[in-house]
Amino acid sequence: MNKKINKIDKFHHHEVIDRANMICDIIDTTLSNHPALSYIMQENIDKAIELLYNVSNRACGEYCNNCGSFEINNINIHFSVCEVCKNIQRR
Ligand SMILES: [Zn+2]
Repeated sequence: MNKKINKIDKFHHHEVIDRANMICDIIDTTLSNHPALSYIMQENIDKAIELLYNVSNRACGEYCNNCGSFEINNINIHFSVCEVCKNIQRR
């Protein structure tokens, strides 16, 4: 992947979550528990899936609709207005 991105926005975060989950699903349905896998091979595949889910979780966070700031929350992707922007709007 060598795409040059000038500014990371909410769609890029969505893209990371979606692609990481998609690759997990592909590994899970096409390779995981294949009869030719040794115990160690299956263990490594399980680790790979876990690591990819970890990548997906880390792309989850609070995205500010106003300034575009992004704060990781490891839960889901949520769009709102950040505290800084809320304080500016109150003035
Ligand atoms: Zn903001």
